Amino acid sequence: MYVRVPITDSERQALITAPVPNRSPLQPAAFVPLPLGSVRPLGWLLRQCRIQADGLTGHLETAWPDLGPDNMWLGGKTEGWERGPYYLDGLVPLAHVLVDRVLLARAQRWVDSILTMQDADGWIGPIQAPGRAPYDQWPVFIVLKALTQHHEATGDERVIPFMTRFFGYLHQTLDERPLRDWGQHRWADAVLSLHWLYNRTGDEWLLDVAGKLALQGYDWRMHFEDFRHTGKTPRDGCVLHTHVVNNAMAVKTCGVWWRQSGDTGDRQAVYRTIEMLDRYHGQATGIFTGDEHYAGLDPTQGTELCAVVEYMFSLEELIGIMGDAAFSDRLERIAYNALPGTFTADMWAHQYDQQANQALCTVAPRHWTNNNDDSNIFGLEPNFGCCTANYHQGWPKFVSSLWMATPDGGLAATAYGPCEVNARIGGVPVKISADTQYPFDPVVRFTVDCAEPAEFPLVLRKPAWADEAVAVVLSARSPEERIVRLDAPWTPIRRTWEAGDEVAVALPMAVREERRYRNAIALHRGPLVFSLRIGEERRLIAGEAKPAPAERSPDWEIMPTTPWNYALCPSHGYRLQQRPAGDQPFDPSEPPVIIRAKARRVPEWGLVDNSAGPTPESPVASDAPLDDIELIPYGCANLRITEFPTCEEPS
Ligand SMILES: [Zn+2]
Repeated sequence: MYVRVPITDSERQALITAPVPNRSPLQPAAFVPLPLGSVRPLGWLLRQCRIQADGLTGHLETAWPDLGPDNMWLGGKTEGWERGPYYLDGLVPLAHVLVDRVLLARAQRWVDSILTMQDADGWIGPIQAPGRAPYDQWPVFIVLKALTQHHEATGDERVIPFMTRFFGYLHQTLDERPLRDWGQHRWADAVLSLHWLYNRTGDEWLLDVAGKLALQGYDWRMHFEDFRHTGKTPRDGCVLHTHVVNNAMAVKTCGVWWRQSGDTGDRQAVYRTIEMLDRYHGQATGIFTGDEHYAGLDPTQGTELCAVVEYMFSLEELIGIMGDAAFSDRLERIAYNALPGTFTADMWAHQYDQQANQALCTVAPRHWTNNNDDSNIFGLEPNFGCCTANYHQGWPKFVSSLWMATPDGGLAATAYGPCEVNARIGGVPVKISADTQYPFDPVVRFTVDCAEPAEFPLVLRKPAWADEAVAVVLSARSPEERIVRLDAPWTPIRRTWEAGDEVAVALPMAVREERRYRNAIALHRGPLVFSLRIGEERRLIAGEAKPAPAERSPDWEIMPTTPWNYALCPSHGYRLQQRPAGDQPFDPSEPPVIIRAKARRVPEWGLVDNSAGPTPESPVASDAPLDDIELIPYGCANLRITEFPTCEEPS
């Protein structure tokens, strides 16, 4: 069956359906996610998504045999577990936010193949992938996430009956084949799809299936209430509930379950989860360490890329469910730092583990809990190929989550970045574009376009770091409505909007110092984290630097060519330099923002275990001369120091 994919603006506009609110007895959503395709990137964010499509994502099926035509999800004989579904879960949103014909056709081929792979009993896909147990529910949970997005963007009528039959299968079989290992720790991902389906069909037995999954699934609420993993995991203590990706996915679990349980304790548990991860394993970029199990607060421990994109996805869901602006702040902090920071600027190569203090990226033993020697090089599949399959969801789902619908018929700018949103408000098509260099610049300029005047609230967020944030309604019809102070986390501007109306939002971005592990300092400005700019020498250790189609993509080691062992001298202040984001927004050679600061070398701070040694306890005495240093966005820096010891200041 051929499913038509809309290409022109008017076709897409016609297809954009109303967001679907939660159906009783599910708790109402704070914000209702917009269907995939409603939000599209502009400006530097469009370039970034294009870089992803032109980099490894757009070449993965030829560059990586795992996702080639012999994949079991395409009817072949290899892989057949999570890699195909992971890739599809990122390919579908990337294809639709870019409206890229090649990627749309590619996603369609996977979807069409999967939609033919349903057994009479409802089971989806291979019964047993090589090296895996039979009837493993986990990869199917990812397939369902990809299909819900595909349905939102295309209206494909096959999806709802297909999903219904699979959940019918689970309903029948969960007692005899209960959740196991990965699926047991990631059960909330299946509940997301169950609730999505319930909201559309109203089949109450779907909630019974969700209830069964919650009973069989790992109890993350109890895990964090009685949190015992307060340091680095010993090698013999690595189990599924200390696993970094399971934890990043679990950030959303209690919130997702709260929708059905209505138990305020589940809501509270979301805050407890984030608090425990921050307190014992947190990093300056808002992520936590896991290489690949809980690894403590030291900034040379690693965080797996899968955990970065899954933490983002957890936050995107939580923003809709609970509407806390702090989740939006953290989403931006991870998306604008930890995500780009673990790729080369051209997105042809990624790391498995990133470090906040990353002085050297080589194949060498490091003090990971259990990862391999190649985990921090930039390449095709360092350490293990899960991230190679799973990272594709990062940017496009972030784009899709920049706007959400409000329950009272308005639109909320749930995260800031250059984009446009298309929605129907009271039957009227409305487009709002956000013209901005954010997060590199503090001003976001919104322009409304609508065929006829439309009355609705435009809801603006005040990030917690933005003191004196203000919105100026440039097209105000009276002086009173011109200036809107953003004092609360969310401020609605209620008026009748007309085509050409403009609102400029200014979010003052002072440089902020944050005290961290061993009394070190990390510098923030707006949602950006800053890192020492270190000269780098790349060494190609596999593949081609600029691969032609079907050639092996590059693996890079990166060595420092300039000193990195600096203690920051904050009393000398900071000077800022800004320029528009370049063709590659996260290129270390042309960062959009530079902070100039003063620092002194700390000669005794050297490499230990092929990483920067333990951060010297601050303040640090140093006789070294006062040097000028440059700090650049974390996301631009392949090598970096992010947590700095500080100089002892003269009394
Ligand atoms: Zn991974």
